[in-house]
Amino acid sequence: MEMVCIVCPNGCRLQVEQNGKDISVVGAKCKRGENFVHTELTCPTRSVTSSVKTTVKDYPVVSVRTDGEIPKEKITAFIKELSKFTLDKRVPIGTILIKDVCKTGVNVITTTDME
Ligand code: SF4
Repeated sequence: MEMVCIVCPNGCRLQVEQNGKDISVVGAKCKRGENFVHTELTCPTRSVTSSVKTTVKDYPVVSVRTDGEIPKEKITAFIKELSKFTLDKRVPIGTILIKDVCKTGVNVITTTDME
Protein backbone atom coordinates (compact mmCIF):
# COMPACT_ATOMS: atom_id res chain seq x y z
CA MET A 1 0.00 0.00 0.00
CA GLU A 2 1.02 3.62 -0.41
CA MET A 3 0.95 6.13 2.44
CA VAL A 4 1.94 9.78 2.61
CA CYS A 5 4.00 10.80 5.62
CA ILE A 6 2.43 13.85 7.32
CA VAL A 7 5.17 14.44 9.89
CA CYS A 8 6.82 17.27 7.94
CA PRO A 9 6.07 19.35 4.81
CA ASN A 10 8.12 17.02 2.56
CA GLY A 11 5.13 14.66 2.41
CA CYS A 12 7.17 11.62 1.36
CA ARG A 13 5.23 8.97 -0.54
CA LEU A 14 5.89 5.68 1.22
CA GLN A 15 5.55 2.19 -0.16
CA VAL A 16 4.46 0.03 2.77
CA GLU A 17 4.28 -3.73 3.00
CA GLN A 18 2.90 -5.46 6.05
CA ASN A 19 3.25 -9.14 6.77
CA GLY A 20 1.90 -9.80 10.24
CA LYS A 21 4.02 -7.77 12.62
CA ASP A 22 6.72 -7.20 9.97
CA ILE A 23 6.38 -3.81 8.32
CA SER A 24 8.69 -2.58 5.57
CA VAL A 25 8.80 1.04 4.45
CA VAL A 26 10.44 2.36 1.28
CA GLY A 27 10.61 6.02 0.30
CA ALA A 28 11.04 7.72 3.68
CA LYS A 29 13.73 10.39 3.68
CA CYS A 30 14.19 9.97 7.42
CA LYS A 31 13.51 7.62 10.32
CA ARG A 32 10.42 9.60 11.37
CA GLY A 33 8.63 8.33 8.28
CA GLU A 34 9.10 4.73 9.39
CA ASN A 35 7.93 5.62 12.90
CA PHE A 36 4.88 7.35 11.38
CA VAL A 37 3.92 4.20 9.45
CA HIS A 38 4.30 1.97 12.51
CA THR A 39 2.11 4.30 14.59
CA GLU A 40 -0.48 4.61 11.80
CA LEU A 41 -0.77 0.85 11.49
CA THR A 42 -0.92 0.15 15.24
CA CYS A 43 -2.40 3.16 17.09
CA PRO A 44 -2.90 6.22 14.86
CA THR A 45 -2.84 9.55 16.70
CA ARG A 46 -3.34 13.21 15.80
CA SER A 47 -2.88 16.66 17.29
CA VAL A 48 -6.22 18.47 17.14
CA THR A 49 -6.96 22.18 16.75
CA SER A 50 -10.40 23.65 17.33
CA SER A 51 -12.15 26.47 19.18
CA VAL A 52 -14.33 26.87 22.27
CA LYS A 53 -17.13 29.29 23.17
CA THR A 54 -16.53 32.05 25.69
CA THR A 55 -18.65 34.57 27.61
CA VAL A 56 -16.02 37.27 27.04
CA LYS A 57 -17.66 40.02 24.99
CA ASP A 58 -14.92 40.66 22.40
CA TYR A 59 -13.90 36.98 22.13
CA PRO A 60 -17.03 34.92 21.38
CA VAL A 61 -14.75 31.99 20.54
CA VAL A 62 -11.11 31.28 21.26
CA SER A 63 -8.80 28.91 19.39
CA VAL A 64 -7.38 25.88 21.17
CA ARG A 65 -5.26 22.82 20.47
CA THR A 66 -4.18 19.67 22.19
CA ASP A 67 -0.74 19.80 23.80
CA GLY A 68 -0.01 16.33 22.44
CA GLU A 69 -1.48 13.71 20.14
CA ILE A 70 -4.63 11.74 20.93
CA PRO A 71 -5.81 8.45 19.41
CA LYS A 72 -7.84 9.04 16.23
CA GLU A 73 -10.64 6.91 17.65
CA LYS A 74 -11.13 9.48 20.46
CA ILE A 75 -11.36 12.57 18.24
CA THR A 76 -15.18 12.50 18.03
CA ALA A 77 -15.48 12.26 21.84
CA PHE A 78 -12.90 15.02 22.11
CA ILE A 79 -14.93 17.36 19.87
CA LYS A 80 -18.09 16.59 21.89
CA GLU A 81 -16.30 17.42 25.15
CA LEU A 82 -15.03 20.68 23.68
CA SER A 83 -18.53 21.66 22.51
CA LYS A 84 -19.78 21.45 26.14
CA PHE A 85 -17.05 23.76 27.43
CA THR A 86 -17.49 27.53 27.84
CA LEU A 87 -14.63 29.78 28.91
CA ASP A 88 -15.82 32.50 31.34
CA LYS A 89 -12.76 34.77 31.66
CA ARG A 90 -9.79 36.19 29.76
CA VAL A 91 -6.75 33.95 29.77
CA PRO A 92 -3.25 34.20 28.29
CA ILE A 93 -2.03 32.01 25.44
CA GLY A 94 -1.08 28.49 26.51
CA THR A 95 -3.61 28.30 29.36
CA ILE A 96 -4.82 24.76 30.06
CA LEU A 97 -8.61 24.73 29.71
CA ILE A 98 -9.29 21.00 29.99
CA LYS A 99 -6.89 18.55 31.63
CA ASP A 100 -6.56 14.90 30.58
CA VAL A 101 -9.14 15.24 27.83
CA CYS A 102 -11.06 11.96 27.28
CA LYS A 103 -8.59 10.27 29.66
CA THR A 104 -5.77 10.56 27.11
CA GLY A 105 -3.29 12.33 29.37
CA VAL A 106 -3.38 15.23 26.90
CA ASN A 107 -4.58 18.75 27.77
CA VAL A 108 -6.45 21.37 25.77
CA ILE A 109 -4.65 24.73 25.70
CA THR A 110 -5.48 28.13 24.25
CA THR A 111 -3.65 29.36 21.16
CA THR A 112 -4.95 32.93 21.41
CA ASP A 113 -3.73 35.58 23.83
CA MET A 114 -6.90 37.25 25.21
CA GLU A 115 -5.07 39.59 27.57
S1 SF4 B 1 9.78 10.66 5.98
FE1 SF4 B 1 10.90 12.26 7.09
S2 SF4 B 1 11.35 13.79 5.47
FE2 SF4 B 1 9.72 12.46 4.66
S3 SF4 B 1 7.79 13.54 5.19
FE3 SF4 B 1 8.23 12.06 6.84
S4 SF4 B 1 9.34 13.25 8.37
FE4 SF4 B 1 9.42 14.41 6.47
